[in-house]
Amino acid sequence: MTNKEIARTFQFLGNIMELHDENKFKIRSYQNAYISLRKLDRPLAEMSDEEIGKIKGVGKAIVGKIRELLDGGQMATLERYKSETPAGIQEMLGIKGFGPKKIKAVWKDLGVQSIGELLYAVNENRLIELNGFGKKTQEDLKHKLEYFQRSKNKYHYASLEGPAEELLKQLQSQLPGVEISLTGAIRRRANEVSRIEILVGQSDLTAEQLGEVLEELASAKNGFSAKTKDGQAVSIYTCEPAAFGSKLFRYSASADFLQAFVEASPGLDFSGLPSEDAVFSKANLPFIVPELREQAWALDLARAQQLPTLVELSDLKGVLHNHSTYSDGLHSLREMATYTKEQAYEYLGMSDHSKSAFYANGLQVERVYQQMEEIDQLNEELAPFRIFKSIESDILNDGSLDYEEDVLKAFDFIIASVHTNLRMDEAKATQRLITAIENPFTRILGHPTGRLLLSREGYPIDHKKVIDACAENGVAIELNANPYRLDLDWTWIPYALEKGVLISVNPDAHSKEGIHDMHFGVLSARKGGLTAETCLNAKSLSEFEKWLKNGR
Ligand SMILES: [Zn+2]
Ligand SMILES: [Zn+2]
Repeated sequence: MTNKEIARTFQFLGNIMELHDENKFKIRSYQNAYISLRKLDRPLAEMSDEEIGKIKGVGKAIVGKIRELLDGGQMATLERYKSETPAGIQEMLGIKGFGPKKIKAVWKDLGVQSIGELLYAVNENRLIELNGFGKKTQEDLKHKLEYFQRSKNKYHYASLEGPAEELLKQLQSQLPGVEISLTGAIRRRANEVSRIEILVGQSDLTAEQLGEVLEELASAKNGFSAKTKDGQAVSIYTCEPAAFGSKLFRYSASADFLQAFVEASPGLDFSGLPSEDAVFSKANLPFIVPELREQAWALDLARAQQLPTLVELSDLKGVLHNHSTYSDGLHSLREMATYTKEQAYEYLGMSDHSKSAFYANGLQVERVYQQMEEIDQLNEELAPFRIFKSIESDILNDGSLDYEEDVLKAFDFIIASVHTNLRMDEAKATQRLITAIENPFTRILGHPTGRLLLSREGYPIDHKKVIDACAENGVAIELNANPYRLDLDWTWIPYALEKGVLISVNPDAHSKEGIHDMHFGVLSARKGGLTAETCLNAKSLSEFEKWLKNGR
């Protein structure tokens, strides 16, 4: 081990001990060891114990630990603390400007155990009230966390979309007249993406031509690997202009889709074609949009001339599942409503947290009625725009909802979601959801698995049973549009549609700008074949009112 590595190990030891409230003097001694070892000009590996012991701030105990590291690459004390600290919390110690005191607060007080969960907590403004935090600190932390995640090897689609479009634009102005397109998973709008992939129709493209817009350029198979100026991973592929269509098609398809496509046309050669249109016509198929080039079922639909007209953001007429300052949102009910109206939507579903959600300032009964009164006033003022009285009711452990019947009755509709006791086996989780779905007041099932993409898997459920129960009870299923959730997973949309279940693309907005997350929900929903007709909040105000009134 180098001196620097050894020094950093002591820094890490001090930090991790701080998380566990260990003796301050001990912690200080490890931090001092870090400082003096880092600056040492002689390699520790060449020094005797006696010599090491003479270094300022290095006592007998520390000499022993250095020796452990030099001999075996590990230190027993550190390994013990590591075994008592979740991996995600250890990872947080590597984030610049996020110290052990704050990490301890989010771990112990909020129960957060990973960076993804922490980002989500930031998104829901959970840190503002936390000791030592505030709105500004929360905002700073958000940037730090996003940066940290960007530097790792997978991204939420939402964090690559902007950089990818920007890079595409830069390349187009750098290479006028050359055909250039996004390709790969990002072109298919996959929920999780490992890098930006771009195809350039110029086979003699050089690193110099890319040097202005990209960094860390290296030759790679079929092109270059590189990083954007902000550190996002990029693959650039090159090809002859005459074969652009064939290559674009090939790089844009998932492995499953490509295999099914090729197998369906034995003997046909799809290489050397200039456009994707030419590829599809050669296969005697209508054009299939990139989002659908994931699974073979899209090919079956294309063959039967039954490709759906996919839902678009502009089809959405209402914004359901939103939070205000009544619970854990950043903006007031009035601000949420006027903003949504300004964006030309016809209605807003205000679904703050219910009373069990103490961590999210969930609404006690009197505040429910207070909010309803305010909604009545605002509805008069903002007509014909309408705010619906709703609640995101916690699904309690036994599957029941969070208020007495007379309160439940007063809402226009109820979204039922699981927020606590997430550790369940499939049978328990499925039953808990089904009990909530069978409750006559439930109209929408919120984020069905509770997953947080790239950080929390979500409890296991029997999707078919849950969807069947929704079909039987006239309950719609949410596709939570927050790019960290995108839950219901799009792969279950075809089954839901087959059963006649409506999908609601809900932003779960915790601020007014949060409603724009519906963009990501729509992209994900399109992958599952959602149409405007099968999307609950594509209904006009009067159609939606009718859906509510007709009950279940
Ligand atoms: Zn929720
Ligand atoms: Zn919510």
